[in-house]
Amino acid sequence: MNEKIRSLTKKHEEKMLGLRRRIHKLPELSGEERETAALVATVLEEHGIEVRTGVGGYGVVGVLRGSVEGPCVALRADMDALPMEEKTGLPWASELKGVMHACGHDAHTAMLLGAMCVLSEMKSELAGTVKCIFQPAEEANPVGGAPAMIQQGALKTPDVEAIFGMHVWPSLVTGTLGTRSGALMGASDRLFLTVRGKGAHGSEPENGVDAISIAAQILTALQTIVSRNVSPLDAAVVSIGTIKGGNRYNVIADEVVLEGTVRTINPETQEKMPGRIEAIVRGIARGMGGDCDMEYVKGYPPLMNDPELAKTAFSVLKKVVGEEKIVHVEKPALGGEDFAFFSREIPALFLWLGCRPEGVPKEEMPPLHNNRFLPDEKALSLGVETLVSCALEYLEGRKGA
Ligand SMILES: [Zn+2]
Ligand SMILES: [Zn+2]
Repeated sequence: MNEKIRSLTKKHEEKMLGLRRRIHKLPELSGEERETAALVATVLEEHGIEVRTGVGGYGVVGVLRGSVEGPCVALRADMDALPMEEKTGLPWASELKGVMHACGHDAHTAMLLGAMCVLSEMKSELAGTVKCIFQPAEEANPVGGAPAMIQQGALKTPDVEAIFGMHVWPSLVTGTLGTRSGALMGASDRLFLTVRGKGAHGSEPENGVDAISIAAQILTALQTIVSRNVSPLDAAVVSIGTIKGGNRYNVIADEVVLEGTVRTINPETQEKMPGRIEAIVRGIARGMGGDCDMEYVKGYPPLMNDPELAKTAFSVLKKVVGEEKIVHVEKPALGGEDFAFFSREIPALFLWLGCRPEGVPKEEMPPLHNNRFLPDEKALSLGVETLVSCALEYLEGRKGA
C-alpha cells in the first residue's frame, strides 16, 4: 500500500508543485480567496470529486466516495495569504504588492489537492469517504474561517468522524514530521487597554493624574499574572506589544493606550485571564486616581489533538518517514491556529511538516510570517503522502468497528 501511495504521489508531484507556485504568485488575503477557491474547485472536479463552493465565504468542500461503504474522514487546508511585501527574490514570487504567502498556506492548499488526486486513483481501496476542506481566512484572528464553514455544514452530509490538518514548520528539518497528543497550539487572545488620567503641566503633577505612570505600574504588574496566578506546570504569556501616550515632553499625559496578546494552552486558564487582567489594571489605575478600560477579544481556542488520532498519526509516520524522522513534540507552540475550531467539534489531529532545507541552520531559517519565509519544496511530497496515509489508515482502522 505504501508503495502505491508513494508512486501515485510521484505521479502527481509535478502538477502539485506547479499548483503551489501558481498559488504563491497570486496570493489572496483572508476573506478574498476567490481565485484560489476557483482553482481548487476546478482541480477537484477534474478528478471526479463532488464539489461544494461558497461554504462559509470562499470555503470549498470536496467529497470523494470510496467503492466500499464506510465512515467519513476529512483533510483540511487553509488558503489565505498575509498583508506583507515578499522579499524572497523568487522568479515566482508574489505578483501582488503587499500580499504574500508567508505562512505556507499555498503549500497547504497544493498538498491537499495533491492528496485528493492520489486518493481519487485509490477509490477501490477506500473503505469509506474522504472529504477535503479548503478553508478561507485562517489568518483572520479572532473570527477565522473555520467557524463559518462549520456553521454552513462543512462537517455534515456526510458527517465527518475525524479530521486531519497540517502546517509547514520551519524549525523542523525537511524529511521530518511532528505532532503530540493533547494541546499542540495555544489560544491566542487580544488585549486593548486604555488608561485614563488627567492632563496637567509637567511642573505641576499634583494637579493631574499621570496616565504614563499608571501604565508603567500596569505593565509590571501584568507579568505577575503568569508568575503568580498560573500554575508553574501550565503555560501562559501576557505580552504588551504597543504603548502609545502623551503629546509633549512637559505635559502630564491624560491617556495611554496599550495593546497586547494573551496566549494560553489550557482552556480553563484562558477563561481565567480576562478577569485577572481586569482586576489588576482597574485596581492599579483607580488606586492612582485614574481609571482603565479593558477590551479583551477572545481569539482562537487551544488546538487539542485527539489521543486516539495521535496514535493513528504516529503509526502513519512510522510507515511514511520511519521512526527516526518522527518528532515527538514536547511542548505546544503558543501561536494560534484556526484548525482549533474543528478540534472543538470532532476528534482532530494537526501535524507539523518539517520544511527547513537540510544544511540550513535553525537560526538562519526565516520563520512563519516573515517576508523571506520559504518552505523547502522537497518537503511537500512527504506532506501529500502523509495526508493520504492518514485518511486511509483511519478508514482502515474503522473497518468492522
Ligand atoms: Zn499564519
Ligand atoms: Zn498558517
